[in-house]
This record gives sequence, structure tokens and C-alpha cells, in this order.
Amino acid sequence: MTRTEITPSQFTAMRQALQEREAEIIGRLLQQPDYPPLPPCPECGAEAEQIDSMVEPPSFEFAEPVVLINVQPCGHRLRAVVDLDEPM
Ligand SMILES: [Zn+2]
Repeated sequence: MTRTEITPSQFTAMRQALQEREAEIIGRLLQQPDYPPLPPCPECGAEAEQIDSMVEPPSFEFAEPVVLINVQPCGHRLRAVVDLDEPM
């Protein structure tokens, strides 16, 4: 198959269009991040919009670290003892 010669200006235009396309794709991704959905609330099964979790300092009662979890918008406040045998 023969190759068709294009002019330097055609090549420049094509390269510019490709760069603009790439910039547009990146720009769209940054503006509308399409994150996968969060896991549902384990308590009520509601769709979670925000999940905050923090590790409670170890106490006498529990040797394992305890994680406090707040789920929004249902507002459930959860508490979980981390099983140290399971990878976090
Ligand atoms: Zn809930």
C-alpha cells in the first residue's frame, strides 16, 4: 500500500488537533470526575454519598484498633473492631 504524502502544514494541523483532543479529554475528566459509587451503608443498605472513617485509639477493652464510620446521608454511625488477621 502506498503512502500519501501530506504537507507540513497538514501535519501540524493534525498534530494540533490531536493535542487539543487530548487536552479536552483531560479537562473533562478533571471537571466531571466519574467516580464509581461508594458501597452502601451496611446498616440500612442506603446509597452512601459520603463515608468518613477514623481509627479510635486503643483502649483496655479492645486490644484491636476500633474504626468509627459515619455514613451520609442516612446518618448511621458505625463502629467496627478491626480484625488484625484480615488485611485492611
Ligand atoms: Zn444507614
